[in-house]
Amino acid sequence: MGEYRINTQCVQAGYTPENGGPRQIPIIQSTTFKYATSEDMGKLFDLEAEGYFYSRLQNPTNDHVAAKIAKLEGGAAGMLTSSGQAANFFALFNICECGSHIVASSSIYGGTFNLISVTMAKMGIEVTFVSPDSTEEELHAAFRENTRAVFGETIANPALTVLDIEKFAKVAHEHGVPLIVDNTFPTPVNCRPIEWGADIVTHSTTKYMDGHGAAVGGAIVDSGRFDWMAYADKFPGLCTPDESYHGIIYAERFGREGAFITKCTSQLMRDLGCVQSPQSAFMLNLGLESLHVRMPRHVENGQAVAEFLQKQPQVSYVNYSGLPGDKYYEIAKKYLPNGGCGVVSFELKGGRGAAETFMKNLKLAAIETHVADARTCCLNPATSTHRQMNDEQLEAAGIPAGLVRMSCGLEDKEDLVEDLAQALAAI
Ligand SMILES: *Cc1c(COP(=O)(O)O)cnc(C)c1O
Repeated sequence: MGEYRINTQCVQAGYTPENGGPRQIPIIQSTTFKYATSEDMGKLFDLEAEGYFYSRLQNPTNDHVAAKIAKLEGGAAGMLTSSGQAANFFALFNICECGSHIVASSSIYGGTFNLISVTMAKMGIEVTFVSPDSTEEELHAAFRENTRAVFGETIANPALTVLDIEKFAKVAHEHGVPLIVDNTFPTPVNCRPIEWGADIVTHSTTKYMDGHGAAVGGAIVDSGRFDWMAYADKFPGLCTPDESYHGIIYAERFGREGAFITKCTSQLMRDLGCVQSPQSAFMLNLGLESLHVRMPRHVENGQAVAEFLQKQPQVSYVNYSGLPGDKYYEIAKKYLPNGGCGVVSFELKGGRGAAETFMKNLKLAAIETHVADARTCCLNPATSTHRQMNDEQLEAAGIPAGLVRMSCGLEDKEDLVEDLAQALAAI
């Protein structure tokens, strides 16, 4: 469906009913699939035929939704995972193994930071964190002979830094490794990292794609552009025989467009099983059908809230790349011309106490650890996600005690601003 524009793809891509077939994507709630002969089934196990045999690896409902997300991102192939965490782990682990090294932006989601720096470290995979604002020289300096991937977030959660995707891709490619970009916050409606040189895109579909706080999920999209065979010594998993499938070589058999996702599905999903349920995939697709309508409203509300907060005496600063003067305003004009997302963060001058009073007085915005759905919510990291840190540690981490992260939903922006105004007045 390459000829259609992105709004049409949000509604239509990924599934075309047969004549007389169900209009909505059917939920194939079946663990297994029936075959007439063992020979038919054997072909699937040898990756010689396409088809389904067990929903731990692949399920038709999931595949329709993954195909839509791949189309939205302008990629060649996609797959769903049980969560955003699983998507990032699979995307990295599909090309890294014990002894590999990753270069990652330091400005990433806390869960991903832990995944890479704690759990993947235990697997013998090393990481060097770099500033998202690194120069090309600083990025080059982070590479080692065993570097296998570069990782960053288009708009980082919760720091709201904007990644210079072209720069990171250029340096990654000079070292013969792919750039993986977590595009959860802008979604493909506001940024398509593959167009800027990213090789693999990941999502926590739990956020805007689902959009209603209904189902945890993740997605991986491969651009199909990275030439694995040109760097075969770095990527043995893709470029040497997989004995668990009678010695097939993914990059040869499935080519640039199919190798990454086929290996990820037939090897990692087979062995680790972080599959999304077909029910969740169905709900995710309902969210995707209106993603292009919702994102502009999230941006409009985020912009209105950021502009309001910037003028308030109780607020010391506001982070939002849509605000002129924001550190990322210029770069956001390039990568996010229609705006980024609905998440805004700001510091209250009164610190921890002020944040607590402010949040207690909010009537419309709920206190939640979640972000990026239809209902406005907010969080004070110092008293929740980062409560093990003292004020000095928080300051050093760039998360001062008075910082509030606000995820603007789809309500009337005037109601959001009025709610903020009365809660600020209570401080
Ligand atoms: C939430 C989030 C994740 C993790 O996703 P889950 O679906 O919660 O596992 C990864 N990356 C970003 C940017 C996120 O916001």
